[in-house]
Amino acid sequence: MILDTDFADEMKQYSGDTALECFNCGTCAALCPLFHDNFPRRMIRYVQVGAKERILENANELWRCLHCGLCTHTCPREADPGEIILGLKQMVVETRRRS
Ligand code: SF4
Ligand code: SF4
Repeated sequence: MILDTDFADEMKQYSGDTALECFNCGTCAALCPLFHDNFPRRMIRYVQVGAKERILENANELWRCLHCGLCTHTCPREADPGEIILGLKQMVVETRRRS
């Protein structure tokens, strides 16, 4: 897997730098009604480690998000996972538009 060390910086334009607040407690994934493979926690972890490629490969998962806000309301670190998912969708659209 290729890691993009500038990815967290790139994401600031879409959803600020809240992803770096996440300490991977898993609360959001436990409460998310999608109950899907550690979503949205896994996506936030990808942002933290620069795994942009992995997000682009699994971009269809982002569009399953209901934007119900449950993850954001329960996150103990105010990382705003719902906003990060929305920002990731914008990043995917912009990346595909440029390619
Ligand atoms: S609830 Fe917040 S701190 Fe916990 S894994 Fe989700 S985004 Fe990270
Ligand atoms: S906003 Fe999206 S990621 Fe967050 S709990 Fe709702 S469906 Fe899950």
